[in-house]
Amino acid sequence: MLQDINEISDGKIYGLHDMVRVSCNDCEGCHACCEQMGTTVLLDPLDVFRLTKGLGKTFQELMAGTVELHVEDGLVVPNLKMAEGTERCVFLNKEGRCSIHAFRPGICRLFPLGRIYGEDGVSYFLQNGACRKENRSKVKVVKWLDTKEPKAYQKFLADWHSLKKELIQYLDTAQGEQAAKTVAMFLLNQFFVKPYDTDSDFYPQFYERLREAKGAFGLAGVP
Ligand code: SF4
Ligand code: SF4
Repeated sequence: MLQDINEISDGKIYGLHDMVRVSCNDCEGCHACCEQMGTTVLLDPLDVFRLTKGLGKTFQELMAGTVELHVEDGLVVPNLKMAEGTERCVFLNKEGRCSIHAFRPGICRLFPLGRIYGEDGVSYFLQNGACRKENRSKVKVVKWLDTKEPKAYQKFLADWHSLKKELIQYLDTAQGEQAAKTVAMFLLNQFFVKPYDTDSDFYPQFYERLREAKGAFGLAGVP
C-alpha cells in the first residue's frame, strides 16, 4: 500500500491537523477538475443529504438531471453527472465556477487530496500532478475539507467505507444474481433513495440506517 502511495503522491501521509500544499488561490481561472471526470465524482450519503437539502429536491428529482448511478464492485452507487457533449460537471456555471459550492460533494472538497482508510481511521495523501495550479500554498487538511464536525465526519467516512467493504465481501458469498441484486438495491434504497429529514442532524440518521443495514445482513460491529 505504502509503495503505491509513493508512486502517486509526495510520499507523505497527512492527518487532519497537518499542513499540506493544496491551497490554490480559490481555483481562480481554473475548473480543470470539474470536467471530464466520468463517474468519479462519487456521492456518499452525506453528499446526498447536503444536495437534497441545498437544492430542495428529492433523490429521485436529482436522478432526473444531475445524478446518475453506476455499478462499482457489485454495488450500485450514485455520482454527479458530466453534461453530455461538453463533459463538464452539470453544476459548473457559465463563469466556470461551482454553482453549489456551499454543499458540494466531499470528493470536490477533498481534491487534490486522496483518502487512505486504515486501522486508525481516515488519513490523506496529496495526488501528484492532480491540481493544475502551480505555486500552491500550505493549509491545514481540516480547513481544506471545509466540513463541520470534522471528527464525526472522519468517523462517518470510515464507517461508510467499511460497510461497503463488508457488503462487497458479502456479495462474494451471495448465492446467485438475485441475491446480489437484493444487496445492491438495499444499499441504494437504505442510504440514498429513502429521504433524510434535512431539518435534523445527518449523523444520527446515518447511524440508525447503518444499524439496520448491519442487522439485515448479519454483519458484525453494529455501532
Ligand atoms: S485543478 Fe486545482 S486550481 Fe484547478 S479547479 Fe481543480 S483544485 Fe482548483
Ligand atoms: S460539484 Fe462543483 S466542485 Fe464538484 S465537480 Fe461539480 S462544479 Fe466542480
